[in-house]
Amino acid sequence: MPLKRRKTFSLLTLFLLTILACNAFPSATPASSPHPSLTPLPKGESPNPTPEHTLLPLPTGAGQSQPLPPLYLTIIIHTEEDVSKGTQPKSQIPDYDGDEALMLHFTSVLREFTEMVNQHGAKINFGSDWTFSKGVENFDPTFYTELEDMGHEIDAHAHESFIPYHQVREHIIQAGGHPSIVASGMNEQEIQEQLDYFDDQYPDFQILWGVSLPGHVAGECMASWAWRPSRGDWEQHDPAGKYLYIGPGEQVNSLGAIEHAIRNRRSDLVNTYAIFISPRELKAAPDAEGINPDWTTKPNSHEYWENRILWWDEFLSEIDVWVEEGKVEYANLTEIAQMFRSVESSLNFEGNACPRSEDGLLVRNRAAGYYP
Ligand SMILES: [Zn+2]
Repeated sequence: MPLKRRKTFSLLTLFLLTILACNAFPSATPASSPHPSLTPLPKGESPNPTPEHTLLPLPTGAGQSQPLPPLYLTIIIHTEEDVSKGTQPKSQIPDYDGDEALMLHFTSVLREFTEMVNQHGAKINFGSDWTFSKGVENFDPTFYTELEDMGHEIDAHAHESFIPYHQVREHIIQAGGHPSIVASGMNEQEIQEQLDYFDDQYPDFQILWGVSLPGHVAGECMASWAWRPSRGDWEQHDPAGKYLYIGPGEQVNSLGAIEHAIRNRRSDLVNTYAIFISPRELKAAPDAEGINPDWTTKPNSHEYWENRILWWDEFLSEIDVWVEEGKVEYANLTEIAQMFRSVESSLNFEGNACPRSEDGLLVRNRAAGYYP
């Protein structure tokens, strides 16, 4: 039951958890869970009743009496281009710009998802690839502005198979959106060349998110803080750096992983975490009219859109308790960047290096009981 928080940890367990490396932190959700539980959660109960600060050694900032700053948490949604090198339809990616019924299914359920997110006061950065934008332009031209009006952001998302970021940004504008200054989806192995490219586009892109290894394989950076990437070594903070990188943390949809990030907050950093969903996780009912069967599922499947949204509603309900306690603050990426700029002269990046994942993102999510 992944969302049922264990009410108490033994002191020994707490101690062991604190000494585990970030990468190896086990989620509070058991790995044996077959799929996300939809069991209603107890309301009004603290997900973290143990007085952690008296038991756990804190990193920098320990011993100070002032409360730690919040963990800034963002919901990230990414769409992927539905063609490969401009010619072949891609498997596992909906045909957003060619299949009207399918596109309208996804925008409809994304509206439902957003309504649910709004109930929690949480914020979305919607990283859109160029084909999704073409789908918006062709079939649902108010989709972006509706999201923007609710405080969410539309970002250029690409892996640059053949459409560069500035063109992805243009497609958002053509579809009626107002793109943020965020670019997401950079390949870590090419990050220095990409910083050169962004110099040519400045100031359209100033916030970078999701510098990863292709396929989110093991070894990717899971930093849970924001910094200005240095030329030569992007992991290092350069006070004169032009771009701000907002680390996703473990990027696992798991209360245990978020709890770990809460516990590892530092008073001298802007602490960040991202939870993630792809539209393709929100499948249609088997009898949905005109929907390609590849994107339908049984109504009792965790992939059925209503079940998925219910799971997220319960997930966010648990996080809401941390928000009320001041441990987490929902924020979009631009808001985090503004916070960073307002405090950056007092931050301390000494000795920071990305914690690296021991498993790929899919494996990490599955271990936490989340099945994309
Ligand atoms: Zn992507």
